[in-house]
Amino acid sequence: MTHVQVNNNVTIGILALQGAFAEHQTALQKLSCQKKILVVLVRTAEDLSACDALIIPGGESTTIAFLAKLSGLLEPLRTFLQKKPVWGTCAGAILLAQAVENTKRGGQELFGGISVTIARNGWGSQVESFEAPLSIDGLLDPSTPFMGVFIRAPVVLALHPSTENPPIEVIARLPINLVPKSQKLTLHDEGDSSPHDSQSIVALRQGRHMLTTFHPELTKDSRFHEYFVRTCVVPTLL
Ligand code: GLN
Repeated sequence: MTHVQVNNNVTIGILALQGAFAEHQTALQKLSCQKKILVVLVRTAEDLSACDALIIPGGESTTIAFLAKLSGLLEPLRTFLQKKPVWGTCAGAILLAQAVENTKRGGQELFGGISVTIARNGWGSQVESFEAPLSIDGLLDPSTPFMGVFIRAPVVLALHPSTENPPIEVIARLPINLVPKSQKLTLHDEGDSSPHDSQSIVALRQGRHMLTTFHPELTKDSRFHEYFVRTCVVPTLL
C-alpha cells in the first residue's frame, strides 16, 4: 500500500474503550510505515486532543457509550466530531448516527455526526452474521471485491439530508442477492438493490465522516483504512 501522500505526520486515534480497536491499530500500522501515520489508542480526553482524526471500532455500542460517559469523553467526542474526521465501523457506525432504533431498554447515548437513522442488530442476531463480497468504487484496485464482515451489524433505516450539512455520499451497497436467506430484513427489489433503498447501504460518507456497517478491521485488507486516510483525513490537513 503506497498510494497515500502525507507530507507531515498525521495522528489517528482509535477509541480504545471496548471492541476491535487492536485490529484497527494493526491495519493502520500497515499503512504507517510509508505514510507517517501515528496511532494513538484513545481512552481519555487528553489522548483525543492529540488526534487529527478518529476511528470508532466495532464492539458493543451501548458499552462503548457507557464507558465513554464514565471516562468523561462524551462531550469531547461530540466537539471533536464538529471539527475532525471520524470513521465508525459497526458499533462505531451506530454511535455516529443521529438516531438509533432497536436499542437496549433505556436507550443509549450517541455521539452523532452523521445524518442517518440506524437500527442496531438490523440483520438479526449473532448467529445470523454473514460475509459478502462488496464492489466498491473509490477503493484502490476497485475490481477486487472487498469482503464485508457483518456481525450483528446495524442497518441504515433512513438518510436525513439537509442544506445545513454536507451531502451524504453512498460508498457501498449490499446487493440483494448477497443478503443471506435467513435475514429477517427484506430489501425492496428483485435484482440488485434499488438506488433509493437506504437499507442496502453498508458504507457512506458525509463530509469528513464515514461509516461502515461491517468490519474492515477484521480482514487483512487495509484498503478501507487507506480510503479513510486519503478521502476524509488528508483533505482536512491541507
Ligand atoms: N450490535 C452491536 C451494537 O449494538 C454492534 C456489533 C458489532 O460491532 N459487531 O453495538
